[in-house]
Amino acid sequence: MPAPVRKILHADCDCFYAAVEMRDNPALRDIPLAVGGAREGRGVITTCNYPARKFGIHSAMPTARALRLCPELTLVPPDFDKYREVSRQIQAIFHELTPLVEPLSLDEAYLDVSDVEGFKGSATWMARWLKEECLARTGITVSVGAAPSKFLAKIASDWDKPDGLTVIPPDQVESFVLALPVRKLHGVGPATGARLDALGITTCEELREQPIDKLLDEFGKFGRRLYELARGIDERPVKVERERKSISVESTYGRDLPDLAAAQQALVTLCEKLKARIDRNGRPPLAGVFVKVRFDDFTTTTLESKGLEPDLASYRQLLDQAWQRAHRPVRLLGVGVRLVPQEARQQLSLPF
Ligand SMILES: [Mg+2]
Repeated sequence: MPAPVRKILHADCDCFYAAVEMRDNPALRDIPLAVGGAREGRGVITTCNYPARKFGIHSAMPTARALRLCPELTLVPPDFDKYREVSRQIQAIFHELTPLVEPLSLDEAYLDVSDVEGFKGSATWMARWLKEECLARTGITVSVGAAPSKFLAKIASDWDKPDGLTVIPPDQVESFVLALPVRKLHGVGPATGARLDALGITTCEELREQPIDKLLDEFGKFGRRLYELARGIDERPVKVERERKSISVESTYGRDLPDLAAAQQALVTLCEKLKARIDRNGRPPLAGVFVKVRFDDFTTTTLESKGLEPDLASYRQLLDQAWQRAHRPVRLLGVGVRLVPQEARQQLSLPF
């Protein structure tokens, strides 16, 4: 018996932090607005509204550059306590629909609604309800995609942003996927996108013509994933979250970093990515920082410190110590933070 067709929703708030600020101060609504760090502190843009996007501003852009593109840009510092509170309200609405919610960040989640009996089982009606409830109760617009798999639901939520609702029913998966640009596929970043371009592959229809062996040769393990995605296959389940214990980013280098200096240089990009990821998660309270190093002989070492801030200077210090353990070229580098456990966090915030 074939597996029953799943119904997955991907819900994603539109320019979330900026949307919360616009809700609380309507004077900000129609002018270019960004939430982010100050130019003086070498800050970056965390989120911006649609009027700001017209100037080419986007998240992760240095604030100084954003202000050059749009000198009249209104800049608001982030208020993560407020965003976490709105996020809690929105996640609670998700949970009214189903317990099978997998949050991806403060403003984004997958929901498996396959077994929901309300709404006559219609994923389209559930999506419409989610959008209406989130807007009515929090003042925030949410874009929702509905599809039989996670990767298609995520593409669908992005299809008609802002305030979008895109449904890919099972009988339309085939035609939708065939026309889909490969760069839209889950896991295809700029580097893989460029290699696919070089092979003359821009749509999933063209990707399908490639034999699996060729894709495995070209892309290693990811070749199999490409083969499946091009056929609309994505069996990943919606994972109800266990408590998150850390946030980290890591990179495996195409060519080993030959020495400590090269590894120290590579830390700069990793630290920027980590900072963006911590921001996306609403800057939770931190319990420590760590680096992970895998050397060219595949030995791996991790070094942690409780007392340090997650900044470049701290990671350079840890990397220096970690590298002394082997003195070898580096194959993989990772940086991360440990989070204060949820239980301890609640105790911290108890009144005296
Ligand atoms: Mg979003």
